[in-house]
Amino acid sequence: MAKAIFLDRDGVLNVERGAYTFLVEDFEVCTGVPHALALLKEHGYYLIVVTNQGGIAKGLYTKEHVLACHEKLQHACGHALDALYMAPAHESVSSSIARKPDSLMLEKAIAKYNLTPDQCWMVGDQLRDMQAAQKVGVKGILVGGQHPAGTYAMQAKNLAEATNLILGKGQK
Ligand SMILES: [Mg+2]
Repeated sequence: MAKAIFLDRDGVLNVERGAYTFLVEDFEVCTGVPHALALLKEHGYYLIVVTNQGGIAKGLYTKEHVLACHEKLQHACGHALDALYMAPAHESVSSSIARKPDSLMLEKAIAKYNLTPDQCWMVGDQLRDMQAAQKVGVKGILVGGQHPAGTYAMQAKNLAEATNLILGKGQK
C-alpha cells in the first residue's frame, strides 16, 4: 500500500502572484515549504505535484519554462518531489480531462505508484483542486487566506499547517 500527497503548485508551493508564473526569476518558493515536504516524505508519502498550465495552450509560455521553474523548486526542496504532472490545456483553446477540476493527473499517479486513494491527500488553494481530489476519493485540504472559514471541510493557512493536520498534530 502506498500513499501520496498531491500538491497544487501556485499558492501552495510557490507564491501566487495573481498572474501566470513561468519565469524562473518570478518563481518564489513559499517559506516553510521545504521543511513541510521533508516531514511528509519522512512519514512515507510520495510527493506529487499536479499543476494546471493553461498558459501553454494559450501560447503565453512553453513547457520548457515550466520545467525550468520545476527545477528551481526541486533544488529548493532537496529534490523531495517524486513527480510533477502538468496539464497544458485550457478550455479557451481545447478541453482536457487532465486539467483540474478533472482528475486525470491524479489517476495517472495513482496507477503508476499503486496508491491507495483514501490514504492520500490533496493540498490546493482552489476549489477545483478539491474537486479533482474528490473525483478519485482523495481527501482535500484547502489552503490560502482567500477563502473564508467554512468554505471547505478541511482548511489550513498554508502547507505547513496542512502538514500538521495530515500528520495528526492539530492546527499548531
Ligand atoms: Mg493554485
